[in-house]
Amino acid sequence: MALEAETQAIVDQFEFSDDDVNRAVKEFLRQMDEGLRKDGTSLSQIPTYVTAVPNGSEKGLYMAVDLGGTNFRVCSIQLLGNNSFRHTYNKVAIPKHLMVAKTAQELFAFLALEIKKFLQEHHNEDFEHHIRRRMTVSAPEGFRDEHIFRMGFTFSFPVKQVGINKGTLIRWTKGFDIPDAVGKDVCALLQEEIDKLHLPVKVAALVNDTVGTLMARSYTSPNKHGSILGAIFGTGTNGAYIEKLSNLKKGLAGEYDDTTGHMVINTEWGSFDNQLNVLPTTKWDDALEKGSINPGYQMYEKRVSGMFLGEILRLVTLELHNNPNVSFFKDENSSFNDRGSVTVIDRDSPLYKPWGVDTSIMSTAEADHDPELSALRQSLEKDLKIYAPAYEDALAFKRISHAIGRRAARLAAVAIAAVVIQTGKLDDPELLGEEIDIGVDGSLVEHYPGFRSMITEALKITEGIGESANRIKIGLTQDGSGVGAALIASVAASME
Ligand code: ADP
Repeated sequence: MALEAETQAIVDQFEFSDDDVNRAVKEFLRQMDEGLRKDGTSLSQIPTYVTAVPNGSEKGLYMAVDLGGTNFRVCSIQLLGNNSFRHTYNKVAIPKHLMVAKTAQELFAFLALEIKKFLQEHHNEDFEHHIRRRMTVSAPEGFRDEHIFRMGFTFSFPVKQVGINKGTLIRWTKGFDIPDAVGKDVCALLQEEIDKLHLPVKVAALVNDTVGTLMARSYTSPNKHGSILGAIFGTGTNGAYIEKLSNLKKGLAGEYDDTTGHMVINTEWGSFDNQLNVLPTTKWDDALEKGSINPGYQMYEKRVSGMFLGEILRLVTLELHNNPNVSFFKDENSSFNDRGSVTVIDRDSPLYKPWGVDTSIMSTAEADHDPELSALRQSLEKDLKIYAPAYEDALAFKRISHAIGRRAARLAAVAIAAVVIQTGKLDDPELLGEEIDIGVDGSLVEHYPGFRSMITEALKITEGIGESANRIKIGLTQDGSGVGAALIASVAASME
């Protein structure tokens, strides 16, 4: 009984009520507008210089590369023009020494060489043809323009984008550290090395992964109006959406095509409400904050995305376990425990390691509807090294996990609702009764059971949306850095 009451008290603290949702949506809209007016705000609202989204009829052969962390991906994408595509790709691990190379040139020369290998392996005919052409044609790089692959470059590090294929590196993250590259245009760095190898490739677009998701969804979605938002709920969270150029009040450094009247904006919404005006904060959120490498930043992301939910769950679980008033993962009769107490948690359990609990166990907990909770109890044993967990304890764990997941989904709905309202699409007379399409990607939204339906449930109680939530279609979209990047390259090429 004590455990049930304590569990309920914890669950209550993760409640994010209908009123809370509505207050947060208003604040999100305010911060979106602020970000469109000036720099240095909570929501960065970064202009991407992408001014059109595809409609599925685009055709052609494009390339895409993705440098985002441990691997470098090179692919070619054949857009078939009927909402579908074929793709071929190579993936190679970035050698550790290049992540901390002395000069940017060393890293980018490696990338260019991988592009060359890919062309030789998968497009040898075209490649040989280009090489022959090079001898006979006197275009600037020696190639005829129509024989040059347009390539989208997904570069998942903070950049200041100043044109569709131009952006300077602000800082490295994720284990990279090549000071020489900071402040330089990463597209130019790559192009230089490509040119040294005489490859028929032009870096046509610098791509953010959320923008890639939006483009990929627009291309593959059956909705003839395309998609209005690409959102990621994976390790981190972020979204890119289509904004009216007239709402974009801050100056744009580079040139762009203004004929569509729109531009894709990368919100960087992970940092929504860093001031904590409306975000919920429990003592476990505070504890996570103190142990994080960037206290005070990415406050929204820390309550929503995969990298953090497991850690919140870990902190709550340990506290409840240590509560002397309840029996939670304890066994009074246990003789095999080695902690001199009644715990059934192994001393090497990930529960004792900060950031040790993977968010995927929350999906296991959510999915388990077995009367004995067999799958969850197995996972507690195998993944968290909790021996023979009792049914009641597993149930308490499941309820707490659900509360954390539900709060995350309702917070995710806040961002989605604000973007939908900001675009005005639900009230557009031309779209009366039609579906409004949104593309989402990331392990959390893909694997956590009910994440999307909890989002829809929260959209239904949002003022300005209500029952129209049924018109908002949230579709899974993968390969934003492949086909999405290729599509941006195609849009960029059409504007050359
Ligand atoms: P990334 O965002 O880095 O491209 P993913 O979309 O795969 O990669 O997201 C990885 C994050 O998702 C990790 O934080 C991981 O803990 C979490 N995750 C992985 N599998 C699941 C799952 N089944 N349910 C919920 N979260 C998951």
